[in-house]
Amino acid sequence: MNSIVIGAGFGGIAASLRLKAKNHKVTLIEKQNDLGGRARVFKKNGFTFDGGPTVITAPYLIFELFELFNKKPEDYIKIKPLDIWYRFLFEDGTSFEYSGNETSMKNQIEKINKNDVKGYENLVKFTQKIFDKGFLELSAVSFDRPFFMMQQLPALFKLKSYKSVYSLVSSYIKNEKLRRILSMHPLLVGGNPFTTTSIYGLILYLEKKWGIHYSMGGTGNIIKGFEKLMNEVGIEIIKGREVNKIITDGKKITGIQLDNQTKIDANNVICNADPPAVYEKMLNRNTNNSLFFKWKKNRMEYSMGLFVYYFGTKKTYDDVEHHTIKFGNKYKEHLDDIFDNKKLNNDISYYLHRPSATDKSMAPEGQDCFYVLIPVPNNQSKIDWSIEGEKMKNLVIDKMEKDLMPNLRENIIEDFYLTPDYFEKELNTKYGSGFSIQPKFSQSAYFRFHNKSEIYDGLYFVGAGTHPGAGVPGVLSSAKVLDKII
Ligand SMILES: Cc1cc2nc3c(=O)[nH]c(=O)nc-3n(C[C@H](O)[C@H](O)[C@H](O)COP(=O)(O)OP(=O)(O)OC[C@H]3O[C@@H](n4cnc5c(N)ncnc54)[C@H](O)[C@@H]3O)c2cc1C
Repeated sequence: MNSIVIGAGFGGIAASLRLKAKNHKVTLIEKQNDLGGRARVFKKNGFTFDGGPTVITAPYLIFELFELFNKKPEDYIKIKPLDIWYRFLFEDGTSFEYSGNETSMKNQIEKINKNDVKGYENLVKFTQKIFDKGFLELSAVSFDRPFFMMQQLPALFKLKSYKSVYSLVSSYIKNEKLRRILSMHPLLVGGNPFTTTSIYGLILYLEKKWGIHYSMGGTGNIIKGFEKLMNEVGIEIIKGREVNKIITDGKKITGIQLDNQTKIDANNVICNADPPAVYEKMLNRNTNNSLFFKWKKNRMEYSMGLFVYYFGTKKTYDDVEHHTIKFGNKYKEHLDDIFDNKKLNNDISYYLHRPSATDKSMAPEGQDCFYVLIPVPNNQSKIDWSIEGEKMKNLVIDKMEKDLMPNLRENIIEDFYLTPDYFEKELNTKYGSGFSIQPKFSQSAYFRFHNKSEIYDGLYFVGAGTHPGAGVPGVLSSAKVLDKII
């Protein structure tokens, strides 16, 4: 069986390994000269900047891929649990250290609003129920039949998946600061907490179940470990070549064509590339003749875009935690502007990553390595990032100087940034969205792009745009679905 995998993000790498373990002849093709997709690494003057994922959850999904070939994960990668998961900051100076230590969590909740402690306990219990159904039972199964989706609906309604995560959390928690903290998880997978289905409340429990981890040397070291494994087990990797066409015979997939016109035959093509871009650019549109599919594709709503500013400083900022999330005052208004009004707002919320807090190898001695991520509208906004990029960079530096890093500007010695244009042009993502389509109920499970194409025989999808969705555990689970359908 010849299988071609297009795209070497976490999902494409996992798919390649899973199919190889089933004795397929596997070729993995990646447009960039390096692997990882959103998890690529940028090295500059002694600083190692992980491009994307930094919070590693459910590490067993990573370990499993080594174990498929009877290899020990620790011979390839080193994953370390963190004590403090996130430090949350508010404009009025309130700070909250979020962790897996329940005593510390309850003490801090009590300080903000003692009446919310019981609600917090009940919220955790409820998210465990969502996790049992949504993650343990349904994250790695194929939702390609409407009947299967219908069978799940009663349980999903019982779990209140018609509510948003924010609304679910608010039914347990009264204080606005705590509501924000406990409902922020959809932002990690590209959704608006005010509209994302409460199924994604499962992330709150998933973190508690297995903890939050860091990959020593950066997340890029996991990709490096996978690349070594793929070479050892005989997966052919083609880098620096873009697939520009998937070849079909009617509705049957027969192979692919590269940007240098080379054709490769295949029984199966597995796309880790963004599904809407695949259907629109790599396939013959005339064959996409299912009206229902066209309607479904056209009504999709896309996740937010990301502005990511990577910087190294000539001194260390020892008081800054590994993961900091700062909420602006106009939090909801900011999110409305990103998702609905598609415009920028100066009252930004941001996520600051300081890997050198845990791992000194990420920066030269005595220096510090960071990235700060600001959610922004995707490119449906038509924002001109060649003008707005510099302004956004200066805005966030000003905020960080005021919030937690005095004199930051004068200490920066290395920097660059990525905007939605990078995601659109380099990673081939529709509208440059950070996380493909949004994680709404109407775009989840059966309503998402199917893992087994609803249009073509031999075409499959893994990664953020298909079931179960974005985030490293999500895309690794999407590859697990293949075990049952190929
Ligand atoms: C800044 C940022 C921070 C994040 N933080 C976290 C986090 O802390 N924890 C977490 O779990 N998740 C995080 N995420 C989300 C997570 O990184 C992604 O959901 C996940 O990595 C996406 O993986 P994927 O398998 O969908 O593939 P992608 O990473 O999207 O890779 C797809 C690959 O396909 C390639 N490709 C596309 N078209 C073609 C073509 N025609 N031919 C050849 N190759 C092609 C692209 O070049 C790319 O390499 C973050 C994402 C970002 C952007």
